[in-house]
Amino acid sequence: MRLEELSAIMRENGIVGAGGAGFPSYAKLNMKADTIILNCAECEPLLRLHRQLLADKSFEIMTALTEVAEAVEADQIIIAVKDHYKAAIESVKANMSSFPKVKIGLLEDIYPSGDEIVTIYETTKRVVPPGKLPIEVGVIVYNVETMYNLYMAITNKKPVTHKYITVAGEVKNPGTFLVPLGMTFDEVVTLTGGPVIENYAYISGGPMTGRIGAGTELVTKTSNAILVLPENNFVVKKKKTPVSLSMKQAASVCCQCRMCTDLCPRNLLGYPIEPHAFMRGATTGQIGDVRPYLNTQFCSQCGVCEMYACGQGLNPRTLLGEFKKKMAQNGLRPAPEDIVFSEVNPGRDYRCVPMPRLRARLGLATYDKPAPMSPQEITVKKVKIAMSQHIGAPAAPAVKVGDKVTEGQVIGMADTSKLGVNIHSSVNGTVIDVNDRFVTIEA
Ligand code: SF4
Ligand code: SF4
Repeated sequence: MRLEELSAIMRENGIVGAGGAGFPSYAKLNMKADTIILNCAECEPLLRLHRQLLADKSFEIMTALTEVAEAVEADQIIIAVKDHYKAAIESVKANMSSFPKVKIGLLEDIYPSGDEIVTIYETTKRVVPPGKLPIEVGVIVYNVETMYNLYMAITNKKPVTHKYITVAGEVKNPGTFLVPLGMTFDEVVTLTGGPVIENYAYISGGPMTGRIGAGTELVTKTSNAILVLPENNFVVKKKKTPVSLSMKQAASVCCQCRMCTDLCPRNLLGYPIEPHAFMRGATTGQIGDVRPYLNTQFCSQCGVCEMYACGQGLNPRTLLGEFKKKMAQNGLRPAPEDIVFSEVNPGRDYRCVPMPRLRARLGLATYDKPAPMSPQEITVKKVKIAMSQHIGAPAAPAVKVGDKVTEGQVIGMADTSKLGVNIHSSVNGTVIDVNDRFVTIEA
């Protein structure tokens, strides 16, 4: 298939990165690449969906990867997967003879091996320069569900209407469910039999990069997991700490030990990011050197510094994130000539964060249980579908109150002059409410 044709399929069928920021997938297909990487690192504790989907649908996913590789003229497809994802690896191996370009790239059980800059380094030893995209080193990265969605769009003409989501933690039966977009988190958690404790909080996404969620929150194309954790769990307490308190704590007790910088996965790859220097500057009002501020741009928000490295319990990631957001709002970026990019740290291998230690540090070891794929077909009475579900411009509602819609019908149209994709109905039903942000449908 030609590049333009594949790109149009992705756009029309609403395909975005199924997790993270949800970068529209067609936008990665604007240049030739030599390598396609399937990111099945799934490095956040308790998440389960990617490895299970790959085990279940490896033929479909490898078919989609091959379409992408042919369109961009790539010579190799690397399936990046941890060596203990046995079922996924066996499933891929069983189909490899039909897909000559595919090879397996085994990842160590470290965090954050799923940060695409880290995944690329671990599988190809190429380092994406700070501020650049993977295509700069000839690589395009897609995740497992994104490629499954592409397969469904190409072969079954089925757009993205549902999302796989893992529910884990303090619930009766942890599991992974395929649910319609626009379902609420409370409804999804009910599918497990519900919470088994009284005082709990939801984490939307993984424990490291996710955030506090609410029962009324709606499933979108980037919802990967709902974790139900006790209110007094370390992860919940960390994520509920106000920024103002994090700043006061930092000013009082940051001892400049540098552990946050020494374990920072981006710093270890040579990126000019030094959280300890930012903490020093931000808490003392130092303005002589602006680099620690400008370099917040290169923070991936992985959370290693505040969830694992800092012995004082401080929150560098949160403070860097706030600063990074303000910089973006003001259009501030480091000038290319100011970006000092070093070699990969020779001690990197000894400073990567092992997953068992991370799970223990986060107080999550007891929840590290299977969350099997549920065969259940989920039905709902109503869905409220967001017109903005990913990075880029929101879609414009393309239906009005009273319209009858069918599953897969376009209900939000992307502006073709901007970054964005169409949004589709996840049910058959009647539109009961429309505004700029949501379309609500009674099933
Ligand atoms: S690890 Fe904590 S105490 Fe040490 S420099 Fe970083 S923020 Fe400060
Ligand atoms: S969150 Fe912390 S550890 Fe992660 S990239 Fe940013 S500064 Fe480095």
